[in-house]
Amino acid sequence: MCRPASASPGYSWTTRPGSDALPQVTPPHHRPGGGFRNPWLGALPGRFSGLLRWLLVDRLVRPRSADPPPSAVRVVAPTPGRPRAAPDVITLTWVGHATFLIQIGGRNVLTDPMWGSRASPLAFVGPRRRVPPAMALEHLPPIDVVLQSHNHYDHLDDGTVRALARAHPEASWFVPLGLRDFVRARGVRRVSELDWWEHREAGPLTIASTPAQHFSARGPGDRNRTLWCSWAIRARARAVYFGGDSGLHPEFSAIGVREGPFDAALLPIGAYEPRWFMRPVHMNPEEAILAYRDLTDGGTAALFVGMHWGTFRLTDEPLDEPPRRTQSAWAAAGLPSERLWIPQHGETRRL
Ligand code: ZN
Ligand code: ZN
Repeated sequence: MCRPASASPGYSWTTRPGSDALPQVTPPHHRPGGGFRNPWLGALPGRFSGLLRWLLVDRLVRPRSADPPPSAVRVVAPTPGRPRAAPDVITLTWVGHATFLIQIGGRNVLTDPMWGSRASPLAFVGPRRRVPPAMALEHLPPIDVVLQSHNHYDHLDDGTVRALARAHPEASWFVPLGLRDFVRARGVRRVSELDWWEHREAGPLTIASTPAQHFSARGPGDRNRTLWCSWAIRARARAVYFGGDSGLHPEFSAIGVREGPFDAALLPIGAYEPRWFMRPVHMNPEEAILAYRDLTDGGTAALFVGMHWGTFRLTDEPLDEPPRRTQSAWAAAGLPSERLWIPQHGETRRL
C-alpha cells in the first residue's frame, strides 16, 4: 500500500482516546463518517437542483442537436491475439464506450465491461445503446483480469457482471472501495477492493488504483458511498493507463510519475456538455489533452486513446462531436498525429 509518508494539507489524523496505537491517517478523499469525495478545490459535482436545471430549463432553451444516422457509425471486426497476445505485445480493442479488451504481459484484461442495451436501472427508460458491442460476450478470449472504475450504469452493468462471472469464473476482478459486495453478489469469485494508490499483483501484471475526479451513485441515497478511480496496468517495462470517468484534476502528473511511463493513455473525451454542470465530473477533449500532457510530463511517447463517446448519448453534445473536437485540439496543440488514436468500434491496435 502506498500512502504519503508525511501529512499533507487535507489529511486528518485520528487516535482513539487512551490508545497507544499509531494514529490512523484518513486520506482527504475519504469523507468523515463514511463515503468518499473529491479532495481538490472546485471539484464538487453538481447537486440535484443543478440536475433539474439541466434536464428542464436547458432542454427548453437549447434543444439537443440531432444524432448522426446509425449508418454514420462504422463497426469493424476486432483482431486481438487469440487466445492471448505475446507477452511483449500490447493490443487495445475498443468494444464500445469505456469497455476495452487490453492484452498486456500475455494476459487479457477487460475494462468497465458493459454489454447492456441501456445505461439505466430500468429496461424501458434511460440512455439506450446506439452502437452494439463490437465483440459478442461469447466471442471474448479467456479473461484474466477485469478492472472496474466506478458504479455508474454506463460502466457497471448487472447482466454483464453475471454473464462474465459465469463464463470466466477464474478472472480476478479489481474494484474501488465499496464495490466488492456488488460483484460478489453477482457470482464473481475473486475480487480485490483497492483504495487510490494501492497496488496488487495479478500474475505478471501489477495493477494500481489511481485517483479520478468523479462521483458514484446507482440509486437514491447511495451517492458517493463507493469510491471511483482510474487504473494503471503494468507488465515489466510496459504500461497502460485507463482513465475511467474523470474531470480534469491536479494529480494526473503524480499518476504519470508514480505509475508511468505509459505506452497508452485511454482517456474519456465525451459526455461534457453543458460545461456548467459536467465540468467537475467529465473532461472535454481539450481537457483530456491537458490530462495527457500531465500524465506524460509533456512528452508524446504514449498513445492517446479517445474513449467514452459514440456509444450512449448521455449528455448534450452531438454523439459524433468528441472525435472531431479532439482531432482539432490535438492539431492546435502541435502534437504528433501518429500519437492520437480514436478507434472505430471494434478496432484493434497493436503496440
Ligand atoms: Zn460516471
Ligand atoms: Zn461514464
